Amino acid sequence: MEDGVEEKTEDKIIVKDVSKLKKEPNMKDYDEACASFSEDTYKKEIEFFDDGTLNAAYNAVDRHLKTPLKDKTALVWIGDDSEKTFTYKELAEESNRFANVLAKHGVQRGERVFLFLPRVPELYISFLGGMKFGAVVGTLFAAFGPSAILDRVGNAEASVLVTSPELKPRIDEIRDQMPALKHIIVTGDYEPGDGELSFDKEMASVGPDFDIVHMPPKERAYMLYTSGTTGKPKGVIHSHYDILHQHLTAKWILDLHEDDVYWCTADPGWVTGIAYGILGPWSNGVTSIVDGRRFDPENWYKVIHDHKVSVWYTAPTAIRMMMREGPELAKKYDLSSLRFLASVGEPLNPEAVWWSLENIGLPFHDNFWQTETGGILIANYASMDIKPGSMGKPFPGITAAIVDKDGNEKPVGKAGDLAIRPGWPSLMIEIWKNKEKFDEYFRNGWYITGDKARVDEDGYFWFIGRADDVINTSGHRVGPFEIESALIEHPAVAEAGVIGKPDELRGEIIKAFITLQKGYDPSDDLMEDIKKFIKKRLAGHAYPKEIEVRDSLPKTRSGKIMRRVLKAQELGEDIGDTSTLEDD
Ligand code: ATP
Ligand code: MG
Repeated sequence: MEDGVEEKTEDKIIVKDVSKLKKEPNMKDYDEACASFSEDTYKKEIEFFDDGTLNAAYNAVDRHLKTPLKDKTALVWIGDDSEKTFTYKELAEESNRFANVLAKHGVQRGERVFLFLPRVPELYISFLGGMKFGAVVGTLFAAFGPSAILDRVGNAEASVLVTSPELKPRIDEIRDQMPALKHIIVTGDYEPGDGELSFDKEMASVGPDFDIVHMPPKERAYMLYTSGTTGKPKGVIHSHYDILHQHLTAKWILDLHEDDVYWCTADPGWVTGIAYGILGPWSNGVTSIVDGRRFDPENWYKVIHDHKVSVWYTAPTAIRMMMREGPELAKKYDLSSLRFLASVGEPLNPEAVWWSLENIGLPFHDNFWQTETGGILIANYASMDIKPGSMGKPFPGITAAIVDKDGNEKPVGKAGDLAIRPGWPSLMIEIWKNKEKFDEYFRNGWYITGDKARVDEDGYFWFIGRADDVINTSGHRVGPFEIESALIEHPAVAEAGVIGKPDELRGEIIKAFITLQKGYDPSDDLMEDIKKFIKKRLAGHAYPKEIEVRDSLPKTRSGKIMRRVLKAQELGEDIGDTSTLEDD
């Protein structure tokens, strides 16, 4: 068991004793941090230029060149058969070169530069360089096919696209449909064709110094497309001012200290890979691990073991995969370098928190945010007791509430829309060319997340489900999360996705899709046992009438179970936009 963490089974709380943690947390007392919080708390951590402007990439990397961090390893990149490291100075210089390449080819500030790359060093360098240049940088998952790319790069009217020789054929297919695209920059060993440039040759043709562009705080910096449940992906635009929130949340929530070896498993095609895979952690001066390989539980443990990772930020899907492999695999490796674990992206089932406490000796700290929010909003903190299954409490300075359809606050314990008072630095500044969509997020002075939640008497927030996933059965509104969590408490159940299936009598009935842990077969006896098991844990109306065993559940590329796909499959309907659906 983690030093300073003691299990209190009666009321299912993990009690923290700050004096016994492996390291004194940056935020020692949540209530105190909330009470003394002001805009200045953010600002004093960040360097602004004399004219009041800033640059997020400068803050993440170049700011440190005046300090001993200059020659410290910023990036450890792990590839299939090689590893590379970059110091802060090297990252600063390489990204300057990339900015110079953009300048050399007449790219203008504000133009969109898209990165269609696997997790290779060039991705990180181009991201930083594009931001230093004042371009609007967009990232894409390397698994995207031509139409997903066209929906994004075409819609954003990007003028530059950086890609690899392996991925470029997918661009060739749609190139004539992207008239705004002027330059394709190809990494690696590649002889560029017409209208193409070689990344390596271009980088070698320019110098390592660049006058970083001074950006007004709310000028466009980077953009990401969320898939949206229906319709085309929408381009969420973020500003350089994001860095204020990303820096402080990385410091206070992920508890990053300069001597940490930090590993964020997220791909920069997803917002987590930008905010907490690039900007937030480097701004805090850590050594960051990027594993460019396919994720695989044994490799994960090996990375932690070999690189002595101390802080690990991952997603529930990864944790459930580790649970599926069983504790034996975890025990094969020395994971004692770890001191803080965090999770985001989907609800973190309480079972996963208890599992990690038992098998890794540390609990996962769940936190909540969205592409649109640019940084974590609600979290479990190193110094705060954990109620497994809860997302935790709002970050200091953030006001969160549960509101009704008119935007009026609901009382403690009542389910409703999770809403946040706008004004934190990293809230998106626009949806690309879609003001109407942007305006839809706001109601009665609140930013509406589109998620249902409740808050308890201690101020902890509990996720119920995406508004669209909430099930209406016999007059009861039931969130899929509690049912899924009950299911995976059964030793044979690895993952669960729960949907509402239209029913004449009850409105909807609850159907669960599950995958099994290794070594279990879906026999009648087992299914009976699972049914009996959850009957004891759930209220009559919340109990799934149907349970179906699947080999795998449909997930997004960031690892989230896609309940809308399960539902569409069940009903034989069109599954809508599937560009973010994982295809293996
Ligand atoms: P899209 O908006 O395109 O449909 P998405 O909402 O999955 O995709 P993200 O912005 O990456 O895209 O995810 C944010 C959503 O993920 C939240 O609105 C919430 O539904 C879910 N989520 C994130 N973190 C948590 C968490 N800790 N607990 C529960 N749900 C979470
Ligand atoms: Mg969303």
